[in-house]
Amino acid sequence: MKTIMKLIFCILSILTFSGKLFAQVNVVATLPWIGNLAKLIGKEKVSVTTLVKTNQDPHYVEAKPSLIVAARKADIIMYNGLDLEIGYLPVIIESSKNPAIQPGKPGNFDCSQFITPIEKTPSADRSMGDIHPLGNPHYHFSPSNIIKVARGMAEILAKIDPSNEAYYRKNFREFQSKWQGKITQWKSKNLAGKKFVAYHWLFSYLADEFDFQIVGCIEAKPGIPPSSGEIKNIIDTINRTKPNAILVNVYSPKKPVEFVTKKTNIKSILVPHDVGSLPGTDDWFLFMDRVIQLLSEV
Ligand SMILES: [Zn+2]
Repeated sequence: MKTIMKLIFCILSILTFSGKLFAQVNVVATLPWIGNLAKLIGKEKVSVTTLVKTNQDPHYVEAKPSLIVAARKADIIMYNGLDLEIGYLPVIIESSKNPAIQPGKPGNFDCSQFITPIEKTPSADRSMGDIHPLGNPHYHFSPSNIIKVARGMAEILAKIDPSNEAYYRKNFREFQSKWQGKITQWKSKNLAGKKFVAYHWLFSYLADEFDFQIVGCIEAKPGIPPSSGEIKNIIDTINRTKPNAILVNVYSPKKPVEFVTKKTNIKSILVPHDVGSLPGTDDWFLFMDRVIQLLSEV
């Protein structure tokens, strides 16, 4: 009996003094690409819950009770930042009453801390409807930024689960070497010099890195439905610049897109906006494969 008591005491001491022992780190991610990246870096040492569905418009998400419940159990919450989640995430974090994920804690992980935002418009004001006040938040189309975010994820997972530090670093190195190979493959698709119109300002990072041009967006100001004047402007731009196609995604409003395609005789192509939003795009590499393939074909 004494031996058993000693053993129990011993186990309890180990649990108490070795810090928190994780069966799996409970990661809550806002967007599908973030959840996927966390899984690629954390593999079986993390369990991932993603708050926003793959077919959902990431700009407009409701802070449902189920999302608050998910956040309550999180060891870490990972999010896009640049105010993309401003409409729901602060409410979720606060209502969760989970001390681990409050601002300033290691469990509050803003992926945008590693990236350099583009399209910063000092005059942008979210209250006026502009939903990109801190610059373009869609940097998951940017391989050069994603590799930095992946490295940052490996670092933070190692910090909150130090017993698996080597494991996270190894997974990152694997990610990095796959990323390197993919870059060569993607660059060979030769998107350089192409021109596109998009519904929303999703593809600016991709255009910068692959040297093509977004000549305009149907939604002239991010998040604000186009006025008839803006529709006329984009039609003029299309007639003048002759882009290869209009890029739309699953939640783009159909009416203005159909109107513009009809008036200009230019075709629209459905491009995944996030990991898993179209069949066969279930990880970030497959998602990028598909995006680049689609753009290279027109
Ligand atoms: Zn946006």
